Formats: sequence, C-alpha cells, structure tokens
Amino acid sequence: MSLAGAALPAEPDWSEAVTVREDPDLARELMSRLRPTGSPRRTSVTDLLSLRPAYWRFTVGAPPATPEREAMLESGRRLHRILGLVYAPEGQLEARVHDTLVQGRIDVLGDRPIEVKTSGYAPPARDPVSERPEHVDQVAMYSTLLGVNAARLVYLHTAGEEVRAAATYDLEFASLDPIRTAMGARVRSLTTACGQGSPAGLPRCPWFARGCEFRGASVCDCTGDELPAASLVADASPRSTPRPELARLLEDAVRARLAATHPPSIHRFRDLLYPRRGYFDATGPPEPSLVTPYESETDTYSRLVEALDTGPVGEATRLPTLADEPDEEVGGFRGAPVLVRTSRASRRLDPSTVLDRSPQHALQLGFRCVATGTNLARLVMGYERATESERIQVLEMTFDPSATFSRVWRSRVRRLDAARTRGDPTTLDPCPAWMFDGCPYRDRCGCGSTAGASQR
Ligand code: SF4
Repeated sequence: MSLAGAALPAEPDWSEAVTVREDPDLARELMSRLRPTGSPRRTSVTDLLSLRPAYWRFTVGAPPATPEREAMLESGRRLHRILGLVYAPEGQLEARVHDTLVQGRIDVLGDRPIEVKTSGYAPPARDPVSERPEHVDQVAMYSTLLGVNAARLVYLHTAGEEVRAAATYDLEFASLDPIRTAMGARVRSLTTACGQGSPAGLPRCPWFARGCEFRGASVCDCTGDELPAASLVADASPRSTPRPELARLLEDAVRARLAATHPPSIHRFRDLLYPRRGYFDATGPPEPSLVTPYESETDTYSRLVEALDTGPVGEATRLPTLADEPDEEVGGFRGAPVLVRTSRASRRLDPSTVLDRSPQHALQLGFRCVATGTNLARLVMGYERATESERIQVLEMTFDPSATFSRVWRSRVRRLDAARTRGDPTTLDPCPAWMFDGCPYRDRCGCGSTAGASQR
C-alpha cells in the first residue's frame, strides 16, 4: 500500500525524553566575555580582506540577497555539508579563532588552518601566492591568529555538483609579525573610515568586477579606480608547495560522497519543526510582496555569538553530521549542539515549563542531536530588556533515550512525504499561530481560515 493511502501511526510523545536544567555557571562565564553594549565588535577576517564591502556592511547594512545569489548559496549547501563529512576526520570544522581586535572562522583546523575554496573557476595552476594572493592573505590571517607559521589552501573546481578538479597547496610563512602588523593597520583604516562616514581612503574592492553585492545593489560609490590593497603577506615571505596527492584523495572522496548521497527531502531543521511550512518552501519561492523583510541581528544577539566564539580555540565549532539530511550546518559549543536566541520578553524561560510553553527549542535541539549523534545540547538565551547582569540564560537539554527523537524525525518525514505525494498540505498540522502573520504562504495555505484557525 502506498504511504499516501495509509493511515500513518501517531507521532511518539517526545516530552518525557527531554530533561531541562539551567546552567547558571556557564551563563556567568559567557557574561564575563560580553563586550560592553553598543561597543564595536571585533572585525572579521573576511572584512579585512575586502574593506570597502565591510565599510558598507557596517554603515548601511547588507543588501537583500538577489534570487540569483540565493540560488547560488542554496546549490552550494550540499557540497558544503559533504566537504564537512570528508574533512571531519582531519580536524575541527569552522573553528573560531580571535585576538583582541579580529576574529575568524577556519574551515578546518588540523595541525594547520585549512581554507577550502569551491568555485566554478579552475584552481591556481602553479602557485596561489602569485595567482590567488587574496586567498593567501586570508589563510595567513588565520595562521597569525593561531600563532602557527603554516597553512593549507584547498581548491575544488566544480560545475553544479560535478567535481572537475582539485588542487592543494601547503603554505609556510617565515614570520607572522608582518602579517599581524598589517592586520592591525587594516582594522585601523576600516575604523577610521566608519568613524568619518567615508570609504574614500580604503583600497580598491577585490570584488569590484566580480559580482560585489553592494555594487550590484547600487549601494556603493566605488569607481574601480581606487588603489589596490597592499599585500598582507609580502613581508612574511610566503612559500607554497603543491600537494597533488592530497588533491587526488579529496577529488575521489567528494565524488564518492556525491554519488552516495541523494538530494534531501528535508532541507532545513525548520522543515521538521513546521512541516506545513516546509511543504510550501519546497514548492518554489514565495510571492515577493508577501515576504517579510529580514530583520538585522540585534546588538544583544551579536554580543552573545561573539561571547560564544571567543573562548579557547576548539570550543565553538561546527559539528559534523551523521544523517544524510538536512543540508544545514549544526553549530556546536563544547562538542554539543547550541542555539542562540534573543527575546524581548520580561520573564525568563522556566526550565520546568519550557517544554510546554516553547516546545520549538527542544525540537530544534533534539533534531540537531539526532543529526550529530549527540544527546546533550544548549539553548543560550539573550534577554534584550534585562540588565547586563541578567542578560544571559543557559538551558541545558538532555535527550534520553535519544532514539525517541529519531522516531519523531522519521514520523515527520513520512507525513511530509505523504502530503507531497497527495499534493495536499492540509494533512500536515498547521504551524503555531504566531507564525501566520509573517508567513509568505498565508494566502494559499488556509491555516488562517476559520477551519484552519480552529486547528490552531
Ligand atoms: S500559512 Fe500558517 S500553517 Fe501555512 S505555512 Fe504559513 S504559518 Fe504554516
């Protein structure tokens, strides 16, 4: 019998499989790392690579992503997840590093930082130092933040999901001091430009003729005649060594993974939380006029993320996933999935009632535990209206038996698949009532109708 015609068994009750406890010690530790409210955040390595886009991002904000850019990001997610699976045995994924002024996120941190570049362009033929100086600058900054004189650049040339070629280069730097000095100078020139409200003194944008999002959105007044940035690494005497044997291993591993995995039916954890919304998300982009503009992150949120990211190296990473889907990364803190949320509520979450009142937090974390093979996760809450000493609350959730959430996951996927087969989203539970007003599918879903509202 097809699933579409079968009565599906009830979803397992998961609430008994979750234990919630507050972790005030960790909350205090994170509060001790919070930079003062409203103070400038650390500059990211990517900002230091292209100062003009960083200036516009800080002063005007990022322009909304174009449909083409969204599609490009979407198509790269599967490859990104597969690269994570390939590299997980070699080190930590997306390891955060920082000093007092700068922070960065290293693709893979083994005995040296590894930066992986996937693109439709052929990799450097002989030497990234002369052919891709901006990539060398980037990985040199990671080396400097770590205090390690070595790095690796990995190139994967792709067309869609087909791997055309790979190249790997090891890099050595004679000294990190010149790089550290140049990084400080770039931070100062960006700070000065932001303070003066003018990018006039900043160097030419490396993305000027290569699809700069700010130029595309007519935000910037760059002409392309600005002086190019001075090399960050020239005085560090970088030396590169090709590693063709590593490139071949990478090509084979990625091709094997691509052949073994199938396009996911779950694209985001959100599809599992709100399957009816997931149903519509998979049917194509919503009517643009119904899409609620993306709200930029608040100061509280960015301070919280920075507090999590600026502990010892290896504390904040991306966790490798075991499951074949979704194509969404799982942020980790001390080896466990972590979610950061902010709230304007005047009352803090009560660990004894949070499962009933805000079940979405446990579901989000429970599904991330299933995906990563873990059974402990953390919710880090930031309260916008609280005093600084009450700003952060940490709830630790333990999922035991962890198999319960695997069963919930499978049950929701079966329901979603059956609804897709029937072409009938109304067989899926409506989302929570608070989602209706901001939902771009509200004109066609029917959950806000009298009948739909009665279900909610
Ligand atoms: S209209 Fe309501 S039930 Fe339908 S997808 Fe949107 S929020 Fe979910």
